Amino acid sequence: MTVLEAINLSTDYLTKKGVDSARTNAELLLADILKCKRLDLYLSFDRPLDEKETKIYRDYITRRGKREPLQYITGKVEFYGLEFYVNKHVLIPRQETEILVETIINSYSENSFSRILDIGTGTGNISITLAKHLRETKIISIDISHRALEVAAQNVKLSGTESNLFIKQCDVFDTESVAKLGKFDLIVSNPPYVSKNEFFTLQDEIINHEPEMAVTDNQDGYSFYKRISEAGRELLNDKGKIFFEVGQNQHQNVISILNDSSYKNIKTIKDYLQIERVVSAEK
Ligand code: GLN
Repeated sequence: MTVLEAINLSTDYLTKKGVDSARTNAELLLADILKCKRLDLYLSFDRPLDEKETKIYRDYITRRGKREPLQYITGKVEFYGLEFYVNKHVLIPRQETEILVETIINSYSENSFSRILDIGTGTGNISITLAKHLRETKIISIDISHRALEVAAQNVKLSGTESNLFIKQCDVFDTESVAKLGKFDLIVSNPPYVSKNEFFTLQDEIINHEPEMAVTDNQDGYSFYKRISEAGRELLNDKGKIFFEVGQNQHQNVISILNDSSYKNIKTIKDYLQIERVVSAEK
């Protein structure tokens, strides 16, 4: 079978299985196996696949047909120009989260935060990009999931950010452990903000494959915003900042939560799709 034949066959198969952008998926998975760029495949359409390549490709396509996300199959994802290792124990970093990171990096010039806390770090994408750009800042990354922290630890190593990034297992709802974290100039979080009801309306890729605890709070979608806002009153230094990522149409409610906890200077920032995506506030 040639590259082109394999791509065509796989595209038909993935289309039947209801995968969006079936051809792109078929191409990206093959490019990963052949260790080339997706567009390079177009220069080798007639290249025959050997037995080993065919076997791996069949396995990848079968997995994708079962709606396993592409990134879990290839084991990687790009975020803010860096490559991250991912597996099923962590949420796949999303492009819209880059806005959150970019906003913090841009505001650094006026504020120079010396300690940042990232709550629910997952792959470590937020923490690591901040640690790379803000070399003078000490970043503490917490997550409740040991499995997620193993992924984050690998990414810290890969990115060479060990000198200013420290990961710790911690449940943000456990007030005693949270109190031991110390004081911070900034808290950032992209918490599980999908409500219990909305969760079941999401794509199969998310419902059946991404860690449920990273996606939904199994309540109304606001429990982490409430808890983190409350915890911030203790954890933040004077004038310390909070930066949240929020789900579509959640910004008004998150603003109210921050208001109720007496935060000032509340702002929102839109993502590239014009959706209000970041809410920031000051203690
Ligand atoms: N901090 C990670 C991200 O923003 C994980 C977030 C989460 O698991 N809810 O992608």
